[in-house]
Amino acid sequence: MAVQTKEKKAEKSEYSPMMQHYLKIKNQYKDCVVFYRLGDFYEMFFDDAEKVSAMLDLTLTGRDCGKGRAPMCGVPYHAADTYIAKLVEQGEKVAICEQLEDPATAKGIVDRDVVRIVSAGTLTEESLIDDKKNNYIACVYYDGEKCAYAWCDITTGNFYARKCDKKDKITELCDGLVRIAPSEVIGNRKIFDISRDLPVVKHNVVPYFGLREDVEFSLFRAERTIKEQFGVVSLDAYGFGDDTETICACGGLIGYLRETQKHALININSVRIERNTDFMWLDANAVRNLELVKSMRDGKPYGSLLWAMRQTSTSMGARLLSDWLLSPLNDIEKIKYRQDGVEELYLGTDIRGSISEQLKFVRDTERLAGKVSNGNILPKDALALGNSLIALPNIKMNLFGVKSKILSDISDNIADLSDLGNLIVKAIKAEAPAVPKEGGYINNGFDKELDRLRSVKDNAMGIIREIEEREKEKTGIKNLKISYNRVFGYYIEVTNSFKHLVPYSYVRKQTLTGAERYITEELKNLEEEILTSGEKAIKLEAEIFAKIKNLLSENIKAIQRSSRAVACLDVLLSFAIIARKYNYCRPEMVGSDRPMNIVGGRHPVVEIVSNEQFIPNDAYLDNGDNSIMIITGPNMAGKSTYMRQNAIIAIMAHTGSFVPAKSAEIPIIDRIFTRVGASDNLIFDQSTFMVEMTEVAEIVLNATEKSFIVLDEVGRGTSTFDGLSIAWALVEYISTKIRAKTLFATHYHELSELEGVLEGVKNYKISVRELNGKIVFLRKITRGSVSRSFGIEVAGLAGVPKGVTDRAKSILKKLEKNDLTKTMDIRSVEDGDEEESEEERISEVEEIIAETDINSLTPMDALKLLSDLKEKVKK
Ligand code: ATP
Repeated sequence: MAVQTKEKKAEKSEYSPMMQHYLKIKNQYKDCVVFYRLGDFYEMFFDDAEKVSAMLDLTLTGRDCGKGRAPMCGVPYHAADTYIAKLVEQGEKVAICEQLEDPATAKGIVDRDVVRIVSAGTLTEESLIDDKKNNYIACVYYDGEKCAYAWCDITTGNFYARKCDKKDKITELCDGLVRIAPSEVIGNRKIFDISRDLPVVKHNVVPYFGLREDVEFSLFRAERTIKEQFGVVSLDAYGFGDDTETICACGGLIGYLRETQKHALININSVRIERNTDFMWLDANAVRNLELVKSMRDGKPYGSLLWAMRQTSTSMGARLLSDWLLSPLNDIEKIKYRQDGVEELYLGTDIRGSISEQLKFVRDTERLAGKVSNGNILPKDALALGNSLIALPNIKMNLFGVKSKILSDISDNIADLSDLGNLIVKAIKAEAPAVPKEGGYINNGFDKELDRLRSVKDNAMGIIREIEEREKEKTGIKNLKISYNRVFGYYIEVTNSFKHLVPYSYVRKQTLTGAERYITEELKNLEEEILTSGEKAIKLEAEIFAKIKNLLSENIKAIQRSSRAVACLDVLLSFAIIARKYNYCRPEMVGSDRPMNIVGGRHPVVEIVSNEQFIPNDAYLDNGDNSIMIITGPNMAGKSTYMRQNAIIAIMAHTGSFVPAKSAEIPIIDRIFTRVGASDNLIFDQSTFMVEMTEVAEIVLNATEKSFIVLDEVGRGTSTFDGLSIAWALVEYISTKIRAKTLFATHYHELSELEGVLEGVKNYKISVRELNGKIVFLRKITRGSVSRSFGIEVAGLAGVPKGVTDRAKSILKKLEKNDLTKTMDIRSVEDGDEEESEEERISEVEEIIAETDINSLTPMDALKLLSDLKEKVKK
């Protein structure tokens, strides 16, 4: 560390005491930028200063450190959030070193220490995180064989863990991390060493892993840390079972959070162990290709399934919806449990309306509870929480008498904390200042002593004038006046001419040429009160607020439980609202061996964003005669849309949502495989064709008869014959070995020959009609296959110049005449131009003759026409 190098250049004792302290702190937090509080600034020194001044464009100055000037830069403490955010965004960790005592009263150097380490995964500042997204930190434990990962959002206390139990643990881990999208990842040495070479890390899809020492992951230590955190003596209740790797990952994460956050993290009080078997497996490809949470075009939510389905009212509902979409359930009963709730809300117009109305009053109680836990709750936050706590019982009331189990469970989990809510609302001013340092956030009338102190402070001058009048009257000194100076405080001034009237109780303090100054016992006491009442009021307000915070802390579990219940209600309501709005149906969930039967299915996003009227389509797939649909059709016909819509409908159904269809029977699916489009995939560090083949390999190796496979073109990234052969062999393999329900769109029309040859293969087409030389997209899927792709016509629609498309047409005709098994000779195409042009000329002549109305021709016109036609066929 350069700081140490510089330190070595001279004896430690040469540094000033403050700088010695700084260096001690820096030495403890070598991997962090240390924000060292000095008065109203956070200062950085030495290497930190040089690095940060360059990163944040700050002026690099210097400070005498006892032996020359140390490079220094700083940021004002009140604007620190913005600077911290910028540093964290650039991958830095910031250690906040605060003054722990008031510099004004401190004896010797001010006591300072690190109170928190801010990193991307532990941000809690509202301004720095998206309220609709979880901000997860993940921790991975890998011992070379076993692997597990835990993840947590410290702003909500949501804490999960999963072990990797598939053959390829590292790929499974990467899929999991891509799905969770953590802002920060830490891990033990073994995974840390591997992580640098993981393509998802190399290409910034998942952040670089931070290293935690192996000792942090020892089973003994991990168990102890978790028990301490949850305040329990046994971990039996959490379902870790024999999965020691999951315990190590959880313990590693909690240990890190406790070390960096330096407070109790009381909102992290339980963990949900997820089992792969409880969920449909969505790999990174499926999440991306089906655009579940962001669009492929620009990575933004617009155009994604999440965007189309999000009708939630609360931020916590929005976050839970995203989690649900990325973790579709795999158990019919659990799905039905959710569906029952959606159906009840779907059918009950009144309950839908009233709950929607009530949810508007509920703020992000999950994150507000997190602030209580993180110790950074402000009065305005407490007020928001108070108002929400008052709104909760109303929601509960609206759920009174509900029939579905899920809604009644939600109702049971919503706590009635309205007394606490009312107390907070009574205590805290509606217009509470953002910064509570100066007080002024507790309502008048809430606390008698506070009212008195405020009145002393506010009416000080009035009280002094009252005393002045009283003393004038009592003594008869007409020009008696009470004033203030720093030396004596409040004093009574009497001119020499009235000196003889001064009572004995006045104590003389100063003699001026024409007057005497006195103080009295009463004035002294009052002065003390006036001068300290402001401070006392601020202190009292802080005490009142601390009591409120304590009450909130005591109720944190109930607030968390209520928040989760409300989030769940919000998502179910959101499902019901879109189901109503876009006319969705409740899908019937059936066993994996049963057919998938979607009638009148639609794509939930395309139908919202497209200007065209969306044409619904059916899908029927089983594991027998109809297991593979080979779909052909012209470019732009709607093949991709059709295939994705069925995959998305299946996912929506597994989350408990209604689906965009007239009716749907959806079998439980273990995993959705997608091979979509042809694009270079930087995530996997591969070329277009390698991406395709990796995805194909993944399918062949892992798909089961319970899987749903979506193949949008296979083999397009290589030569026609190679590609066709691979596609052909793949269909054969799926049909004979896997028997998974499969949709396969292709421009290899030859594949349609497989129907009747291979069991389960059925041909489907999405046709177009040619009308007056233009193509009309019908968007309807029917049995059969097409023999043309109309690619050139679509190229024309896309704006490719006519010269190019005409030439393409003529080449195509020639190619179609050739036997494709013979080597193509481009020269023969060029030679054929003459002949081709002649054909075109003749067809033009025919067209002109056909369109000519002979009856209306004059003899002269007829002659002229004949001459034109001759000209056209002359060559
Ligand atoms: P290509 O072979 O060129 O990839 P494709 O057959 O896969 O084309 P899509 O990309 O699915 O075609 O569809 C093209 C456009 O057609 C979509 O963006 C959508 O706007 C529209 N579309 C597709 N299906 C429908 C439908 N059923 N109803 C209305 N519009 C549709």
